[in-house]
Amino acid sequence: MTAAAAAAAGAGETRAEGGAPPKEKPPEPSPFAYDLHNHSTFSDGQLAPDGVAAVGKAKGLAVGLADHALLHGQLRSAADFAIYYAAADRNGLFRGLEIDLGVPLTWPLRVLEQADYLIGSLHGLELDGRYHPFIEYFNHRLGLQDRYEPPAAFADRVRFLDAALAAFKKGLDDWPIAILGHCTLLPVVEREVPPDWAEAFIKLAVDRGVAIEISGLWRVPREDFLQRALELGATFSFGSDGHTRGTVGEIDYCREMAEKLGLPAGRMYVPKGKRRR
Ligand SMILES: [Zn+2]
Ligand SMILES: [Zn+2]
Repeated sequence: MTAAAAAAAGAGETRAEGGAPPKEKPPEPSPFAYDLHNHSTFSDGQLAPDGVAAVGKAKGLAVGLADHALLHGQLRSAADFAIYYAAADRNGLFRGLEIDLGVPLTWPLRVLEQADYLIGSLHGLELDGRYHPFIEYFNHRLGLQDRYEPPAAFADRVRFLDAALAAFKKGLDDWPIAILGHCTLLPVVEREVPPDWAEAFIKLAVDRGVAIEISGLWRVPREDFLQRALELGATFSFGSDGHTRGTVGEIDYCREMAEKLGLPAGRMYVPKGKRRR
């Protein structure tokens, strides 16, 4: 059985209640057949969780939801989280959440701890007492907007990078984050992430034992950053950041990087929580 077929078997199986003899446990998917970052209609994704699951199954992937738990999400109460987790469980998806680092979270920790993993990502940055969302930069990166004019607050690159690193650090202090999402998707500096910043960021991830996401949608981090992360002992995870039928489960860039760098299977983050079927 190929890794993809194994993942498909794992992702797709439904078990009859009672009666039927116990089936053999399906083999664990290859660590390179996980896509842990997908959005559904619980936040800004276009597919409902069953649609996400169907695309993942067709691609032979073990898939996790990672809907926004704050800015763009519809998760507003403990009851909403319970519905969300149940939808993930019903569809054989991991219960992930994407947290906006640098934005105060109001959810009690116990609600978040029922997730299989938290992805911490920067979607904006507070500078001079104001939160500056990156949304226009993201739209520009996706080709939805021709030009991108960074706010004046981002003009000082050193200050911007210091604040970004501090926001990642604070997120790791505050929340039990397992994965840092699309880490170098940063306005102004993405094309030339300074090596000393990369070094500091990677060391932070390694020290805190959190995985660095390789992002299918955004094609970040770049190869040299990932090479250094591999050298410094980092762990990694694959995330499509899929929001649509065409982008859910799209991890070509992740696999390309894994192959180029010769990522060992043991360096891939795999959620400890079992998908509940
Ligand atoms: Zn994100
Ligand atoms: Zn996302």
